[in-house]
Amino acid sequence: DHPTLSKLVVLSSVSGGGLIAFADNSQSQNLISDSAEGESKKKKVVVLGTGWAGTSFLKNLKSSSYDVHIVSPRNYFAFTPLLPSVTNGTVEARSVVEPIRNIVRKKTFKVDFKEAECYKIDPVNKKIHCRSGHAKNLGGIEEFTMDYDLLVVAMGACSNTFNTPGVLEYAYFLKEIEDAQKIRRSIIDCYERASLPTISDEEKKRIMHFVVVGGGPTGVEYAAELHDFAVEDLARLYPSLKDYLKITLIEAGDHILNMFDARITKFATEKFSRDGIDVKTGSMVIKVSEKEISTKDGKTGQTSSIPCGMVLWSTGVATRPVIREFMKQVAQGNRRVLATDEWLRVEGCDDIYALGDCATIVQRSILEDIAAIFSKADKNNSGVLDVHDFKEVVEHICERYPQVNIYLKRKKLKNFNDLLKGAQGNDKKKIDIEMFKKALSEVDSQMKNLPATAQVAAQQGEYLANCFNRMEQCEESPEGPIRFRGTGRHRFRPFRYKHFGQFAPLGGEQTAAQLPGDWVSIGQSTQWLWYSVYASKLVSWRTRILVITDWFRRFTFGRDSSKI
Ligand code: FAD
Repeated sequence: DHPTLSKLVVLSSVSGGGLIAFADNSQSQNLISDSAEGESKKKKVVVLGTGWAGTSFLKNLKSSSYDVHIVSPRNYFAFTPLLPSVTNGTVEARSVVEPIRNIVRKKTFKVDFKEAECYKIDPVNKKIHCRSGHAKNLGGIEEFTMDYDLLVVAMGACSNTFNTPGVLEYAYFLKEIEDAQKIRRSIIDCYERASLPTISDEEKKRIMHFVVVGGGPTGVEYAAELHDFAVEDLARLYPSLKDYLKITLIEAGDHILNMFDARITKFATEKFSRDGIDVKTGSMVIKVSEKEISTKDGKTGQTSSIPCGMVLWSTGVATRPVIREFMKQVAQGNRRVLATDEWLRVEGCDDIYALGDCATIVQRSILEDIAAIFSKADKNNSGVLDVHDFKEVVEHICERYPQVNIYLKRKKLKNFNDLLKGAQGNDKKKIDIEMFKKALSEVDSQMKNLPATAQVAAQQGEYLANCFNRMEQCEESPEGPIRFRGTGRHRFRPFRYKHFGQFAPLGGEQTAAQLPGDWVSIGQSTQWLWYSVYASKLVSWRTRILVITDWFRRFTFGRDSSKI
């Protein structure tokens, strides 16, 4: 049974509290409870975050049977795939954001938005603790708590620094709109400073050296955008600095774009080499300071320091502190990421859902299912299966989990038998169940970790909204379809991710794309595909028109180099 349905309690009307204010000894801040706000008998749904997951949930939520509240420190949705284009002014910052109140206004039911960050989730009392951070003349920080019946955690993740010294202080990140704006100003800053008459040649070289750390899609796209900006626009405006420009891309692994097909990696590496972008693979950054970056060679262990003017840090995501704190409370303290089941419910909390970059689905049931299928086939309870019976079991598993087939194909394994070599004991006709499970654990872990992408987050938001839309109907007729999963019945099918492919823009109107079925497309035509896909994916007609206008402006007049 879907547990949330039977356990909904409307807490908001219980306290009847109104405004509670008391002084905090240290900071004398107001602590405000809004628990009396939602007097209605509707279930109170609180959504944390206005990113890909939160906004997709909100846009797809159609049922008016909820009292919906959104809490986020950003009062807008940002179209992150275009952030690298904001760093050089190809696209303006305002063109890629949609005010959340525009989305709220279009809903047919009331939705309340509060611009604040949640700093604590209290699952025992079903409350969240929030604070807003407005300017001092507006009263500064305000704190308040909020009750919920259902909580949707879609807070995303923060940049992963791997605790590298100096990164927080001296490197730039590319996660938010403000980051992209800061980077744009900093690039122009470097050019203007290097143009001053007092700057020595050596100092010019340092200032004009831009380092990008992380050879994933964001780092690669940023390096490409920076190169285009420098070559197509800044070279004309600052001709004396043309020869001082240097862009270095540092990657700890042995190649860039490691989640892409090898053909794309090869093309990108060769293109960067032609463009003069220095790609340093197998190199780990150990320290960032004001004027240089220190690296350690993965093979030789040799350390070196590179003088530079600007460092962009793009090495993946980490769990936010508020989520880490919450994980401790729900006995997930030993995990790296917040775990949910396939219905996106946080493990250990029936009324809290987590989606997007802040969570990961643990498909524990795959191994459990497989064990169950095995036990059924293993009539004598011997722990081993005859190869003939085993084949039937394997077919059943492949049919049930299409990902297993995809995984085998990717690994260039024809079938399970290849994978199974380790599960066969001395008697080749018998398969040891425990050994088989061990052999499968790699497949299992591959299936557990969905990539931290907008595609996953948006699909999860839509999936959860559809479940919420149908909850009332399901309450009325509880007999959902019988599913073979665990012991109970589930009213909703579990979340299944559909991969529609991934782009890697490489600059100079060249883009690579890895499409479903491992289909690879590279070149200028793919760049046009990129333009059309991203224009169509923008969240509203307003942003679509703004972005397309920006692209035309850039084609006609070039990029703007003013430092505003
Ligand atoms: P986010 O979109 O990060 O949203 C998190 C939300 O939570 C924000 O509104 C934030 O303000 C809010 N929040 C934060 N802290 C709190 C708090 N304490 N309380 C309440 N709210 C809080 N993915 C792709 O699929 N394709 C791409 O081309 C692509 N390009 C990218 C380019 C860049 C530069 C970046 C940074 C990411 C890119 N991604 C891309 C990844 C994609 O942006 C993320 O996977 C996606 O944003 C995750 O969505 P989310 O809703 O989980 O988190």
